[in-house]
Amino acid sequence: MIISSLADSVTRGFENIGDAVSGALFEPVIRLGVTGLSRAGKTVFITSLVANLMDRGRIPGLLAASEGRISAAFLQPQPDDTVPRFDYETHLAALTSPVPHWPDSTRAVSELRLSIRVRPAGLLAGLTGPRTIHIDIVDYPGEWLLDLALMDKSYAEWAEGVLQAMTRRTDTESFLAMARAAEANDTWNEPAIKALAESYTATLHSGREAGLSGLTPGRFLMPGEMEGSPALTFAPLPPVERPARRSLWREMERRYTAYKRKVVTPFFRDHFARIDRQVVLVDALGAIHAGPPALADLQRTMTDILAAFRPGSNAFLSRLFTGRRVERILFAATKADHLHHKQHARLTGIIEALTREARDRADFSGAVTQGMSIAALRATVEETRTHDGRSLNCVRGTLLETGRQAAFYPGELPDSPAKLVNAARDGSDKWLDEEYRIMKFAPAVLDLKPGEGPPHIRLDRAAQFLLGDRL
Ligand code: GDP
Repeated sequence: MIISSLADSVTRGFENIGDAVSGALFEPVIRLGVTGLSRAGKTVFITSLVANLMDRGRIPGLLAASEGRISAAFLQPQPDDTVPRFDYETHLAALTSPVPHWPDSTRAVSELRLSIRVRPAGLLAGLTGPRTIHIDIVDYPGEWLLDLALMDKSYAEWAEGVLQAMTRRTDTESFLAMARAAEANDTWNEPAIKALAESYTATLHSGREAGLSGLTPGRFLMPGEMEGSPALTFAPLPPVERPARRSLWREMERRYTAYKRKVVTPFFRDHFARIDRQVVLVDALGAIHAGPPALADLQRTMTDILAAFRPGSNAFLSRLFTGRRVERILFAATKADHLHHKQHARLTGIIEALTREARDRADFSGAVTQGMSIAALRATVEETRTHDGRSLNCVRGTLLETGRQAAFYPGELPDSPAKLVNAARDGSDKWLDEEYRIMKFAPAVLDLKPGEGPPHIRLDRAAQFLLGDRL
């Protein structure tokens, strides 16, 4: 452990020097992390952000753009040859085709470099010419951040905690029976390990469908390119007094340790610890629609995920982050185009309330944070309708399932976010006063004029918060 931590901080040290030198003498680089749970909207966010930075007609909220200081934005080969490239062109083609459709979602880490030629603002404007700033966008599943909880735990500790949490669920009986019946002190064999791992992974999926949080290992839900590898084939087993060499229990322990060393550590070291600015996307509306248990669960998951942004909370992270930290974190409630704009402030209140507990704990070691409601790709228009003598603020769009146009009233979010968050925490099954409905809209057919990016809601303000001070 000591050796590996030493090695980790040594590489980081060199990297910091490298960054500082290239920042001072050459062209500055901003690494922008984009994360969130599966289906939160990462792929759509990155695609629309890049398209809007390239064609800047719809981003007045980004000051460098509205002041006319950006002369060009273009994609470049990314610096990390071994990381898959974010497939921007395919995703944009999906959104802008004559019959638009949503692109494939994030399944693993990917990267894209966007370079911007910008004239400095203020006093420096007259002194220096335009310079190039590189924005390295790093897209990764929020599920992977949950693995941080494993880093300071032994296999026995992790297994005990996980098995105990499972006893409170009904969908885990068959795995629990299998784990208890396993001959943990006998010599291991691959079919036994595989069967246990598969059954365990099935409990993770069913837990997620039920809206549970803190499901680990995170890669079991989002394996990316590692699917089926031994480091991802293990499961928790009850403790064994003195496990024999080559026993099933020892092999599970070995694989758990390999998972932490070969899967979790490289991700945190090579990707996570190098991020300067971070946006955490949250499908809060989806959780509100699913009901109080899902919202309560989202809040717990956010707290788990956000622990990753407080290096002090974890010994492994503190070693990794020597001398470096994420400077800005934006918490964005996505898909705000499902709501009339009169409700956006309430949605922002909810995202702030959802992340408050995590934020209050340590204020992310000095990082600047903000909550916002956004739609990276606006799929609706607003409409006010009268229904039973009451005027309703609706949104209209093309329904994904039928392809038909429909106006839709999602329900009125409460004026105080505490009403929702507390009801969720109190363990109620249903919202008391309102039904919150949600429809799946297809992306709208776009008729873009030259110089115009895709329509959005507050994507430019998000960009201003995340990047504006450096442009
Ligand atoms: P990822 O798993 O985080 O990469 O999520 P995606 O970016 O693939 O988004 C998941 C789904 O959410 C999409 O297929 C869309 O149905 C929906 N979605 C994402 N962003 C928006 C948005 O701005 N507006 C609307 N209406 N739907 C969105």
